[in-house]
Amino acid sequence: MEKRLEGVRSCMRDTKLVPAPLSAFIIPTDDAHQSEYIADCDKRREFISGFTGSAGTAVVTADHALLWTDGRYFLQASQQLDGNWTLMKMGNPGVPSLEAWLAKELPLGSKVGFDPSLTSELTFKQYSQALECAGIDLLPVTTNLIDVVWGGEKPSRPCNQLMVLPIKYSGRSWQDKVCDIREKMKDANASVVMVTALDEVAWLFNLRGSDIEYNPLFFAYAIISTEEVRLFIREEQLSPDVLEHLCAGKEGGVKTFPYEAASSHLSQLVGSVEGKVWLSGKSSHALYSIVPSAKKKDILSPIQLLKAIKNETEIQGMRYSHIRDAAALCEYLWWLETEVDKGELNEVTAADKLEELRSEQPDYVSLSFPTISSSGPNGAVIHYRPIPATARTLSRAELYLCDSGGQYKDGTTDVTRTISLGSPSQKEKECFTLVLKGHIALCSAVFPNKTAGSRIDALARLPLWGAGLDYKHGTGHGVGAFLNVHEGPQSIGTKAGAQPRYSEPLQAGMFVSDEPGYYEDGKFGIRIENVVVVVPTETKYGSGYLTMEPVTLVPIQMKMVEPSLLTADEISWINHYHSECLDKVGNYLGDSGKTEVLKWLQRETQPLG
Ligand code: ZN
Ligand code: ZN
Repeated sequence: MEKRLEGVRSCMRDTKLVPAPLSAFIIPTDDAHQSEYIADCDKRREFISGFTGSAGTAVVTADHALLWTDGRYFLQASQQLDGNWTLMKMGNPGVPSLEAWLAKELPLGSKVGFDPSLTSELTFKQYSQALECAGIDLLPVTTNLIDVVWGGEKPSRPCNQLMVLPIKYSGRSWQDKVCDIREKMKDANASVVMVTALDEVAWLFNLRGSDIEYNPLFFAYAIISTEEVRLFIREEQLSPDVLEHLCAGKEGGVKTFPYEAASSHLSQLVGSVEGKVWLSGKSSHALYSIVPSAKKKDILSPIQLLKAIKNETEIQGMRYSHIRDAAALCEYLWWLETEVDKGELNEVTAADKLEELRSEQPDYVSLSFPTISSSGPNGAVIHYRPIPATARTLSRAELYLCDSGGQYKDGTTDVTRTISLGSPSQKEKECFTLVLKGHIALCSAVFPNKTAGSRIDALARLPLWGAGLDYKHGTGHGVGAFLNVHEGPQSIGTKAGAQPRYSEPLQAGMFVSDEPGYYEDGKFGIRIENVVVVVPTETKYGSGYLTMEPVTLVPIQMKMVEPSLLTADEISWINHYHSECLDKVGNYLGDSGKTEVLKWLQRETQPLG
């Protein structure tokens, strides 16, 4: 790492690369589309620091190298960073933010460099305000200094073939989606919408790719104007099938251009259109600054809400994919019980088996995120990812937490179950039951249409709070339909308001996760996660109220429950849930000839007395 750091430092002084010698250079995790998961060629922060977590920002100065990351990654970062690096634990008392540290440590008149194509406008504003007050200049650096140091060793950008998603999965043609967007443009007096998020491009055109692991996405931008639809993508990714699907070259068809041409087209359109240019503050500073403020419409992208509220076909697809996914997970849980005593099961071999079982399901594409397969104390590491060298052996003595999901052509899944393969302790049972009570309270809540997720987050925590316990993560995130496992603009969490892209209120047709947990450092972790769909419900006096229905159908282990802590309503919720699991997944298992697994499912879904 030392050589790489020296390389960056010499670039920072090289005025052929930077507009002026830099006192500091900021290296974010983001790619040019602000994706959550990134391709290997975009793992610049990992290249320079060695830290592999999904969130964190590095800063290199002449004498320091620092990495800011959040609570999920303190342990991992402290293990992965070498002696050249200082770990800045975000949120810990006395730890300044990145911009506050720069403002305090650098002398007046210093220059701080950043890559405007990798920094969102929102982040840019946050940095520039703090640095301006301290008399420090924030300079855009268009040659990425990490790429210069990385040189020929840098992996090339993936350029895989695309898949056309037929109407039987998408439910709506791309032409109809363009009409929907143009309606919204009319209401907003916008002549152009700039689409930068990869899942929005994929959703819009009913296309899927495989450029980024776990996410069925491809590198592209789109611009929708009142007359035209332009797609910016590398030509090699466009097969004859895809071109035909896009009606390329035909009247009313999509016009395709090179991936790199998106910003020049945006500049040209800004000068030629009458109305506003719709572009969210979540897009890069480089693109955002092309559009003058007076011409800009900076509100939530019209695609975000259209994509989050699933149509009937997508809702059905999500339900079907969850039944097949549940069948794979039930077989896995049954298999664990039969294998555990052999003593050869560890966190990695177990996760591999689960992947194998999922991959046998029809329309399976890939995992939707790296499986969290954790035994005993590893369950308390919230974003744990097992590696063969340190994988823990599964045993009857420890709780096992497994958070996993798949991508299917008709839906995306994300499910966590915590089980005991032996006899859980009283404390473990009590904690599990409190988590389950919170899970049920959130899922069965009735709330007004368009209630913000932040207003109902506490429902999932109240039972734990009553016992003086809590968990340090959000309660729920949006889920895509054969798209990203984490998608906005809605979420359920205490800080939903702090992340503008995830604070949209809940509406019927949205999918969210319901995933409270409890973690005891060094001992065990518990999480119960279902994907649920927001649906309209009847109430005695009012109308327009919503509730949630579980879409995940995997039994919750009753061995882990302390029945005396449950109310009659909670018991009836569990019994009803388990009868749904038995009915839908049981039928599917029966049809697939999995009699042993079906017997296991019948046993696991026995009603509570
Ligand atoms: Zn999950
Ligand atoms: Zn989740």
